[in-house]
Amino acid sequence: MRITHVDVQIRRQPASPTPKRDALQSLPGSGSVRVEVTTDTGITGLGEAGFGRIAGGPDALASLIEHELKPLLMGQDPAFVRGLHQVMLAETEYHGSQGLAMFGIAALDTAIWDCLGKGLGVPCWQLWGGVHSRIPAYAMVGWLNYDNEEVQVICRQAVAQGFRAVKIKVGYPTLAEDVQRVAVVRKAVGENIGIMVDANQALTTAEAVRRGRAFEEMGCLWWEEPIPADDIDGYAELARALDIPIATGENLYTAADFARFLRRDAVDIVQPDLRRAGGPTALLQIGTMAAAFRRPYASHGGGPVQLNIMACLSNALYLETGLLAPDSPLQLEEGTVQIPQGPGFGWN
Ligand SMILES: [Mg+2]
Repeated sequence: MRITHVDVQIRRQPASPTPKRDALQSLPGSGSVRVEVTTDTGITGLGEAGFGRIAGGPDALASLIEHELKPLLMGQDPAFVRGLHQVMLAETEYHGSQGLAMFGIAALDTAIWDCLGKGLGVPCWQLWGGVHSRIPAYAMVGWLNYDNEEVQVICRQAVAQGFRAVKIKVGYPTLAEDVQRVAVVRKAVGENIGIMVDANQALTTAEAVRRGRAFEEMGCLWWEEPIPADDIDGYAELARALDIPIATGENLYTAADFARFLRRDAVDIVQPDLRRAGGPTALLQIGTMAAAFRRPYASHGGGPVQLNIMACLSNALYLETGLLAPDSPLQLEEGTVQIPQGPGFGWN
């Protein structure tokens, strides 16, 4: 099989008038870039990288893929997907493989794996070898732009859909406000639903220890990204000081970043993002490495790629998703969702 064409499409999206907000940023959305890799056998593979913000992001990414990454793939054999991943990393090293370059590498890596799965007529998890047929899922629903009543309504909706855990944003100016928010949500969902808290890098280490102790007392399941994502010393200190598991990783790049955190005991739950980690090739590496360190893996974001990866990880803990739309392919049973059955990264 040889790659004969890579189609790059920008999907623009008008900025939302009511953007979601966390402690770090406002997320009006700006669209995505979709890549379709075509092979000489007629098999095609899809990949996509979305933007929660950055109005010019999709245009800049499409240009980078078109002019810099696509030429590296033309005529190549998808069976050497890990080799192509290395070639793309090496080529982008000059300006830095993080940021937009990694979004592009991830989308193309996804599309190439998709070709391989479709070529063999099996889901990607079967190529890698499965562990789980269902994965626990939680609903990230507690955005900071919701008032207390709104957050209670949406958390109750998540429980009614069958979720057994919800995640909420915290990182208000004061500890008292954070504690009050968790209490409001606990009142809405009852005692038997898990609550995760996420401050999106907003705090100092000292403040994260203080608030972490409060969240521990309140029985929260994990304390996510309380301090800046690259502060490995701070994360090591937090993990030592607190019993509540420290979750981080959505803003780390490549398996090497995760290796540094794991070696320092600076993370309890790894949370790689498909785009920033660098595609399925990198997610698999990160997941299996974390398993060797006996650290659970929780996805940043949902979707069929993360589910295919988690199906193969002994340490898979939770899939992240939002409320399920009426047309969602996911069906909750006892708080878990089924893994995809379609070839490549297809749902079914
Ligand atoms: Mg987060």
